[in-house]
Amino acid sequence: MKTLNKYTFTAAGSELFTQEIINNQRNLLNDGTCNMDKVYLNQSISYVFDCFDKYHKNIYQLHTLTPELRLNKSHIDAWKLAYNKNPKAVKDLRKKYKEEVQMCPYCFISNISELDHYIPKARFPEYSLLNINLVPSCSGCNKIKEDKWSVTTPLFFNPFIHNFLEERFIKAELTPDNLSRNKIPSLKFYIDIDNCTNKSEGLLLQSHFDKLGLIKIKNGKGSYAEKATQILSCYLRILNKIFARKIIDSDESSALDYVESEVDLFIESSVETYSINSMEVALLYAIKESRDNWIDFFNHL
Ligand SMILES: [Zn+2]
Repeated sequence: MKTLNKYTFTAAGSELFTQEIINNQRNLLNDGTCNMDKVYLNQSISYVFDCFDKYHKNIYQLHTLTPELRLNKSHIDAWKLAYNKNPKAVKDLRKKYKEEVQMCPYCFISNISELDHYIPKARFPEYSLLNINLVPSCSGCNKIKEDKWSVTTPLFFNPFIHNFLEERFIKAELTPDNLSRNKIPSLKFYIDIDNCTNKSEGLLLQSHFDKLGLIKIKNGKGSYAEKATQILSCYLRILNKIFARKIIDSDESSALDYVESEVDLFIESSVETYSINSMEVALLYAIKESRDNWIDFFNHL
């Protein structure tokens, strides 16, 4: 799990970014309606900059922010439209993230293709053009996140703010049930809240992974298990080959020890590539921890 750089945007930088977009709108305007939008943006810009100030001051408590009541319907429409027109500054920001980050910081399994409004644009149009509210994401996460927002507790972690790299909390379990039907063991991912130093962060992670459908706490598998099943099959085939080679000149226990040392090497390189909290590393640990079932798994391949 690679998170974005810790919060580095400043309030002044955010205002500049937005002001630049509004100034550049002049070049795009060619009818009366659009000119009115520019008037509405300029009319309400001081209210919106007040909101930016609040956003930066409450960056660790964003769910406590309330909508800006001084904006009327025309202002709101103008702010939403200003983003929907895909201005150059927004395009440039998206391009920069695609080059620098690549992997979606919400799910860590898909590539970045768009920008998600961390605080939904539909509910808080005043943050439509706030740079720190624009989180690079894959289309799947952006679509699922949509306008979900809670005023009592954060539902999703914020890749600009939260940094969960210390403890291993994404875990998986392999169970040998239904082996004969599926040919590979069934796989379940979960968040190990007990392994999170801060319990409220643990609950936030659980909410995030559940709501994005990455792990399904109550109903079904989630996209981590779906994506990992194919990878699991590949790993088991590789390990089976290693085992078959080793068992020729050693006993079963030594051959399994050797396979386990290979799994450790896979873990080491995956931590390096994907970091400690990733689907791949969770899967490899689950394989390591199911050593008692390996022979059974191999026999069903
Ligand atoms: Zn994603």
